[in-house]
Order: sequence, then structure tokens, then C-alpha cells
Amino acid sequence: MSHLDRRDFLKLSGVATAATVAGGLSGCASTQAAVAGKGSAPVVGADRNIPLPKPGGDRVVIVGGGVSGLTIARYLLNEDPSLDVVLLERNATYQFCPISNLYLVGGIDLGYFARSYQEAAKNGGYIYVQATVTDADLESQVVYTDQGKVAYDWLVVAPGIDYNYGAIGVEDPAVMYRLRQEYPAGFMPGGEHIALRNKLAGFEGGVFVNTTPPGNYRCLPAPYERTCLIADYMKKHKLKGKVIHLDANPDITIKKEGFHAAFEELYGDYVEYVPSFQFDGVDVESKTVYSTFDKVQFDEASIYPRVRASRLLEVMNIARTDSPQKEADIDPFTYAVKGYDNVFATGDSRWMPYSKSANTANSEGHFVAQLIANRVKGRDTEWQSPHTICFSMVTYDPEESIMVDAEYDFEKGKGFHFANVKLEQDWNRSLGEGTIAWGEAILSDITGGAARG
Ligand SMILES: Cc1cc2nc3c(=O)[nH]c(=O)nc-3n(C[C@H](O)[C@H](O)[C@H](O)COP(=O)(O)OP(=O)(O)OC[C@H]3O[C@@H](n4cnc5c(N)ncnc54)[C@H](O)[C@@H]3O)c2cc1C
Repeated sequence: MSHLDRRDFLKLSGVATAATVAGGLSGCASTQAAVAGKGSAPVVGADRNIPLPKPGGDRVVIVGGGVSGLTIARYLLNEDPSLDVVLLERNATYQFCPISNLYLVGGIDLGYFARSYQEAAKNGGYIYVQATVTDADLESQVVYTDQGKVAYDWLVVAPGIDYNYGAIGVEDPAVMYRLRQEYPAGFMPGGEHIALRNKLAGFEGGVFVNTTPPGNYRCLPAPYERTCLIADYMKKHKLKGKVIHLDANPDITIKKEGFHAAFEELYGDYVEYVPSFQFDGVDVESKTVYSTFDKVQFDEASIYPRVRASRLLEVMNIARTDSPQKEADIDPFTYAVKGYDNVFATGDSRWMPYSKSANTANSEGHFVAQLIANRVKGRDTEWQSPHTICFSMVTYDPEESIMVDAEYDFEKGKGFHFANVKLEQDWNRSLGEGTIAWGEAILSDITGGAARG
């Protein structure tokens, strides 16, 4: 993939300005001027400082209010109430991804896992600004957004993932656009889940294609959970057809005995699992997915392309150039960006081979909050492993799940690997109830709000 410049990023993040298009900006400095409102057709208000109360202590700016950013915002103030914490998030409402497969099949409604950023900020005692971050100057310690700029003492970059459609053979931006609109992956917070739910509600039977990408993608078990729940939906609604699960990997990547058993025992007539499917392209007109040797036609689909870290990291010049997923170039034990002791990158943007999942981002967020608060006081913090807990529902109404629980270890020469792994692959009601209870506990931990029940 070619290097992404600020102009590409602005277009992709939906804040492309007339200046960037009409002005034909070429270099970083001129693009920055346009972002900051100094170009011929500036972003309204982008050259001003975002109006904020005067900081009482060191200011920590957090980019991205997902599981990672929300946890760090809240727990920084628990660690050190004198800090001034500002969360910059582009969305007005938070949508929790983990329970969203149950939402797709109508098991819960949107309000159940959607939360208000205003309320989360009030509960946590920090400042929330709805703004899209467009760049940062790490030397002068300023973050630029479509709403203005803000100076920081400490910066946390937690913008999550982006999709890489090029990795499934789709290079034409028009096809990428249509794929994302018409056959969304549903692996990023926003409107994709609503579109997928409506798609399923209107599905009258036939072939539903669901896919798993290669690499360290977001939430390893979630695509297989989705296949189970869509098959269950078809079974419960007596729809004729099947889910064809196209997996880029040679086998199910996690909890494989449990998922294989569910596919065979619960959904023998409804699920066709295809491993080692090397994606080569998608034709949206004829509704066909291609691999090197094969093609599969569908009536409906959710296409999950390879993931990569948010493109914002490349704009900020903090992405690893040697990683295919372009994750943040950080010290794995402190999360500090190489060369900047006051800038951290966390959550699914990190390069370490941890599960890109909510419990991992949440437990890691507790640690990073402690580490930053200690650094403010000039103290070091010993590395703690994140904790991965991942429930997967294989049937709903009533809910029954399987699960994995693991930590990580570091060995010189070998790097990071799973440790203390506990797997429960026989689905049951108690794990189904555990899934809901876990989701509520994390939501309540990151937003400070009561569970909805
Ligand atoms: C269907 C599904 C099922 C899942 N199931 C589980 C599960 O059972 N268990 C589990 O542990 N995990 C699960 N996960 C994974 C989990 O949701 C993610 O790994 C976790 O949310 C990652 O947190 P994050 O903060 O790194 O990223 P995100 O939660 O994606 O947050 C990133 C935030 O940054 C914001 N942002 C991005 N760019 C900008 C910008 N330029 N300016 C301002 N804001 C920006 C985004 O709007 C977003 O709010 C699941 C995910 C999905 C989609």
C-alpha cells in the first residue's frame, strides 16, 4: 500500500476540506495549515484553541473514546485527581462492540449497549470534546482537530483500527465504499451494526456470506460467534439457506473445538465452513467473493477485511513501517511511543500480539493510567500483563456461550505469548449469563454508569 498522507487521511476520516481538494496541497506543512485553518478555504474554527477550562494540573489529552480511551480517562483521575484529562472522540454516542452480535439478531436493543459520552465524562470527572483528530505535533505538544487545537503535557493515542480492503483484493475506492456501505464488517463502532441488523431483518433466505480475515484481527472469536448467531436466527425464523463462512485462516483461530462442535451439532444444515480461503476480490454487482481458485455467490454478506491500526498513526508519524498492520511504534512494556516519553499508544492500535479485545484494552488501560500517573510524579511502573476474557455466544434465547480467559508472558528471544489459558468449550447457560454480566461490568467500568439490566 502506498504511503498515506494527511490529505488521504482527511478524506478517509470524512473531514476533507475544500482547501485540501481545491488547493492541491502537496506538503505536510501546507496541509497542516489547511487543517489549522490557514489555507484558502479553512475548516471552520480549526485555527483556534478548543475553548476549555484552564488546567489545574498536567493536561493529559486522550485521542479516541473506545474501551481503551474511556478506561484511561476514568482511571487517570482515580490515580491522580489533580490531572486535567481531555477526551477527544469523533462520535457523539458510544457503542460497545462486544455484545453487538446479539444485537444483530434482535436479542438486545441499541440502547442496551449505547452510552452517552457526556455522562461518561461527568461520571469520570474529565472533559469530553466531540472532535475528529486530524494530526498532532509531538514536538510542540499540540493536537489538531476539526474543532480546533489543544496543547498537552501527556498524550494517549487510542483510535482503534481501520479496515484494509486492499488486502482482500479490493483497490477501487468506489468498490471499497460500496462494500462498507452494503456489506459492512461491523467491527468498528458507529453505524455498521445498525446497517447489519437491518440487513438481517430484511433477509428472506439464501446464502449469507460471513468472513474471517488473516492477521491479528479485532476479536478473534467474534466472526465465528456471528456465524453461529446468524445460523440460529435463520433456524428460529425458518429461513431457507445457509451461512457460508469464508476463513482466510487454515482453521478456526480460537475456541475451535467449541465452534466446530456448534457448527456441526447445532447448525449442521445451516453452516458451511470454508478454511484457507485466500481472498482475491469481491464483485458487488454480481455479489461474488473470489479466491485464487474459487468463487462464492451470496444473497447477503458481512465482509470483514484485514484490519490495520488507525490511519491516524501514520499521519502522526508514529506507525511501525515494518508491520503489515501499521500499528504504533511503542515500547511494549510502557506503551510510550519511541522517542517521546510523554506520548502513549494503547488498545487495538498497539503492535503486541495480544488479543485485540475489550477486556484486554480495559485491563491494559488500568495499567497505563497508573503508569502515566506515576510518570507525572517521576516514578517508574513495573509491567503488568493485560488480561483477555472473551465470551462467545453460540445460541441465543436462551443465551449459551463458550469462553477463553488468558494472560500474557514475555520470553527473551520468543516475544509475547499466551499464559494461564483457561478454555471452556462446552456451551451452557451459565456462560451465557456470564457473557451479559461481563459486558455490563466492562461498560460500567469504562463509563462509570449503572448497568442497564
Ligand atoms: C462484533 C464484535 C464482538 C466483539 N466481542 C468481544 C468480546 O466478546 N470480548 C472482548 O473482549 N472484545 C470483543 N470485541 C473487541 C472490542 O470491542 C475491541 O477490541 C475494543 O473495543 C478495542 O478498544 P479500542 O479502544 O482500542 O478501540 P475502539 O473501541 O474501536 O475505540 C476507538 C475510538 O477512537 C475513535 N476515533 C478513531 N479515530 C479518531 C479520530 N481521528 N478522532 C477522534 N476519535 C477517533 C473511534 O470513534 C472510537 O470510538 C468485539 C468487537 C466486535 C466488533
